[in-house]
Amino acid sequence: MNKQYDYLIVGAGLYGAVFARELTKAGKTCLVIDKRDHIAGNIYTHEMEGIQVHQYGAHIFHTNNKEVWDYLNQFAVFNRYTNSPIANYKGEIYNMPFNMNTFNKMWGVITPAEAAAKIEEQRKANYTENPRNLEEQAINLVGVDIYEKLIKGYTEKQWGRPCTELPAFIIKRLPVRLTYDNNYFNALYQGIPVGGYTAMVAKMLEGVEVRLGQDYLADKASWDALADKVVYTGPIDAYFAYKLGVLEYRSVRFETEVLNETNYQGNAVVNYTDAKTPYTRVIEHKHFEFGTQEKTVISREYSAEWKLGDEPYYPVNDEKNSALYAKYKELAAGEENVIFGGRLGEYQYYDMDKVVEVALNRVCAELA
Ligand SMILES: Cc1cc2nc3c(=O)[nH]c(=O)nc-3n(C[C@H](O)[C@H](O)[C@H](O)COP(=O)(O)OP(=O)(O)OC[C@H]3O[C@@H](n4cnc5c(N)ncnc54)[C@H](O)[C@@H]3O)c2cc1C
Repeated sequence: MNKQYDYLIVGAGLYGAVFARELTKAGKTCLVIDKRDHIAGNIYTHEMEGIQVHQYGAHIFHTNNKEVWDYLNQFAVFNRYTNSPIANYKGEIYNMPFNMNTFNKMWGVITPAEAAAKIEEQRKANYTENPRNLEEQAINLVGVDIYEKLIKGYTEKQWGRPCTELPAFIIKRLPVRLTYDNNYFNALYQGIPVGGYTAMVAKMLEGVEVRLGQDYLADKASWDALADKVVYTGPIDAYFAYKLGVLEYRSVRFETEVLNETNYQGNAVVNYTDAKTPYTRVIEHKHFEFGTQEKTVISREYSAEWKLGDEPYYPVNDEKNSALYAKYKELAAGEENVIFGGRLGEYQYYDMDKVVEVALNRVCAELA
């Protein structure tokens, strides 16, 4: 019996939107549902005081993949935003990532040779054979000054534990840049869609039926009856009613505030690298779009423990969770008419460009 739609797409995030766009283009009928009351998933932006606010954390698009870049440029014009965060350590301001501007401020060095010699001197002064924890590892890589001012407090807030109790492997490399270049990403293409990410996703979903505030898992059988195939971008363990156990996430919490001033911190992203300030970062959203509005909107970002029911942010890809995911993946392979995809469906941290890439590859395979 023919069902009403060829595809039911669960999740109106970037993965679901790529699928919806490409399937529709190929003449398939699609219904997109999302349990939230908005499209765009975690890249959702909404307007406050004329400013696009990134509700689920700051999102900066960057990629080396020209195909992905050209693909998204069909749906949005990207501005020239370049991510150059700064660190505030007890009122001292440093450029990130670690580069000649950072070293000049920290030690007064001017040439790359002077900076390299200083870093080497710092590393040697406190070098530990076989580092046993993150502190020893970081000091081995960049020395005490950078560790104390720019790594220690921030990392301890992120993980909720002292660096001496964190494993060394968390930090494998700490790239230092011996040029005066504050551009955080080494990407060929970078920017923010003018008018926000939600407008971009809306354009991708043009001509596609979308129903919001609908939880697929609350009435799975009825939804399944509507379409021949399902593209599921929700959490894979939730799909199977957590029957093998719960996959863990690291979480973040945001406190967003409108301020009666035009410019609070002069930069979109400021990291607070001391241990005392309770938040890790402050995002000032208007600077993503070079805004000149009278007011400003900031979000303070806190690291948070995650428990089932909270918003899942970063998958914890340790041994335990990876083994559990592998088991769910086996179960998923047995679901003949369901495609599991995206950051939650594949329990994988994906940058936006990667999500577009994997979704395009998967939908091409589907249509082949
Ligand atoms: C804090 C943070 C910052 C980030 N910053 C960047 C960045 O700067 N640059 C970058 O490239 N990437 C960034 N990312 C990654 C980016 O957010 C992801 O690549 C992208 O959101 C993944 O899209 P998705 O469609 O896979 O998932 P999502 O956007 O999560 O979409 C899944 C959708 O499925 C819906 N859903 C789930 N279950 C159900 C159900 N049962 N019924 C109906 N709907 C359901 C959800 O409501 C959600 O809308 C960041 C991620 C985080 C966590």
